[in-house]
Amino acid sequence: MKTSIKTYHPFNGNHLETYTMDSESKLKEKLKLADSTFKTWKQLEIKTRVALMQNLANELHQNKTELSLLITKEMGKPIAESRAEIEKCIYLIDFYIQNSDHFLQDDIIATEAHESFISYDPLGCILAVMPWNYPFWQVFRFAVPTLAAGNVALLKHASNVTGCAIAIEKLFLNAKFPKGCFQTLVTDHEGIEKLMSNDIVKAVSLTGSEKAGRKIAELAGKNLKPSLLELGGNNACIVLKDADLDRHIETIVKARMQNSGQSCIAAKRFIVVEDIYDDFIEKFTSKVKALNYGNPLEDDTTISCLAREDLAETLEKQVQRSIDLGAKVTLGNTRDGAYFQPTILTNVTAEMPVFKEETFGPVAAIIKVQSEDEAYTMASKYKFGLGTMVFTSDYDAALQRTSEIEDGAFFINEMVKSDPRLPFGGTKISGYGRELSKEGMLAFVNRKTVYIN
Ligand code: NDP
Repeated sequence: MKTSIKTYHPFNGNHLETYTMDSESKLKEKLKLADSTFKTWKQLEIKTRVALMQNLANELHQNKTELSLLITKEMGKPIAESRAEIEKCIYLIDFYIQNSDHFLQDDIIATEAHESFISYDPLGCILAVMPWNYPFWQVFRFAVPTLAAGNVALLKHASNVTGCAIAIEKLFLNAKFPKGCFQTLVTDHEGIEKLMSNDIVKAVSLTGSEKAGRKIAELAGKNLKPSLLELGGNNACIVLKDADLDRHIETIVKARMQNSGQSCIAAKRFIVVEDIYDDFIEKFTSKVKALNYGNPLEDDTTISCLAREDLAETLEKQVQRSIDLGAKVTLGNTRDGAYFQPTILTNVTAEMPVFKEETFGPVAAIIKVQSEDEAYTMASKYKFGLGTMVFTSDYDAALQRTSEIEDGAFFINEMVKSDPRLPFGGTKISGYGRELSKEGMLAFVNRKTVYIN
């Protein structure tokens, strides 16, 4: 059994730190602490719990420089994007400071009873299994509403961002949250399996791959515990003949290339109507070429290495298998360690891996179609269900399509993105449950019916 976790800077492969994994007895201690903290934490007034959130935002603000550096060192995100990630966490906290109190108020429902209402009670200790791609944002969007609702949290972060996981726990402690409200576990998949069967853990939230989703759902099922799964996506970006490319091309490129292409909600399949195809290819290629590849620690870098070399190797294989089936390389397709050059593939068909599978890196698969109807049909031809985006000047016609879209989100003239004010989550193999907004706050509560006669 492994006893330590090593982290590396993916840009140059340098070793960063070695972390000792929690022993079985340490994990049990953390569980006990979570359980005892929950008993007092849930009794506090919502206002008291939420007041600590302001300290948390202040901690993030004061430590932004070093936290951004840690993100970039551990997973290779360009430093400007790491800073933006910390700022987005602060924005999220602010949203829940403003809204937690009224989101959690009892909902009075008129019945024959003297009084009847829904009360929102916390479930207890919630386990979060989180990914490396947005190592702060993914954790905060789970933890802030979950804790504000009166739960306590245990975090098992992706092993390559263990430093971020430990830093996040420290932020909660420095913000004066009671010990045991938020704890980081340094453990592995086996540890998760044991935790899931422990009575103290009441539910689980996972953001990660389909494979991890199937495993966590299986464990949740076996132990009869609620789960929320935010898994991979293969979002279509439909470009119709009347799209205003001059206005939107930056957004379209960002939709694929931000975070060096490692986002679940990124646009991965570009479905372009033939009337605008040549114009699109020219503008898209020119913008992708203008991305500034380099050291992620430098301010002007806009795209860098992937988070691990094996991720770049997987991407390389997906691209090669697609080329074998007839895809044409219009730009890129070279790999150097963890760096995969921004790549544009044309002549893509629905049978190719770059169409059927999630590509977690800077690869744009472009599909030419004859008509708007064909574009929407092609977009929905897949088993993922995170989001679809369409670029068009005919806003009304796009809106008419809303009910056809089976995904968790439909964005018109904008890239699919997360916003604390709006629910976020998927359908089909992209998972289930919703984070953010009021929905996210109620993800781990007991909606209790109270009836007074
Ligand atoms: P994983 O899904 O493997 O990892 C995400 C989290 O799940 C990590 O904490 C990981 O821990 C944990 N995990 C994985 N398998 C298990 C298991 N069997 N039991 C318990 N915990 C588990 O993502 P990868 O890092 O391997 O990335 C691979 C693919 O996942 C990407 O190509 C992408 O498609 C997808 N992905 C999607 C994300 C999203 O935002 N939806 C985010 C990240 C990845 P550990 O690190 O210890 O393995």
